[in-house]
Amino acid sequence: MSIKKVLRMGHPLLRKKCDLLTEEEIRSPEMKTLIQDMHETMKAERGIGLAAPQIGINKQIAIIEMPQESERYEEVEKTPLIIVINPKLTVLDEQKQGYWEGCLSVPGLRGFVKRPRKIKVEFLDMEMEKQVLTLEGFLATVFQHELDHLFGRLYIDHIEDKTLLSYEEEFYQFYSEQDSIE
Ligand code: ZN
Repeated sequence: MSIKKVLRMGHPLLRKKCDLLTEEEIRSPEMKTLIQDMHETMKAERGIGLAAPQIGINKQIAIIEMPQESERYEEVEKTPLIIVINPKLTVLDEQKQGYWEGCLSVPGLRGFVKRPRKIKVEFLDMEMEKQVLTLEGFLATVFQHELDHLFGRLYIDHIEDKTLLSYEEEFYQFYSEQDSIE
């Protein structure tokens, strides 16, 4: 296991659609190593989600974890490590809600993004089992943020009000009462 370098905005790989994984790839030993590396990297960077392209792997895999002991996100739902492979996202409620988002690939910034408030995500797990999650609120935003990475999109693409893009220092000074993700 090792902590990988997180690619930053400007790296072309962050703007490419990722490839679907084959059953052979999902069942391979390399897959387990990749997930471990992603998990280590995410924890080291204090993130709650990471997508494979962020460490230079152009495949449709993302992980999300909001640890129980996290105090940073006390207001929001906690979740154990979820491994999302080959996801398909369906919007269940078009009505939008906004959160401050951050991204390990866009360090030092926060931006206020509005996204659909309720979604369904279908994906494969490590055992090739199909999983379906219905998500609302903050977790719906976290999943949309991570899944965006698999299709070459970054949160800054969704910022409607450009006055709500901020350096972290100013964010903590002026806006930090609100939930944010990273
Ligand atoms: Zn991100």
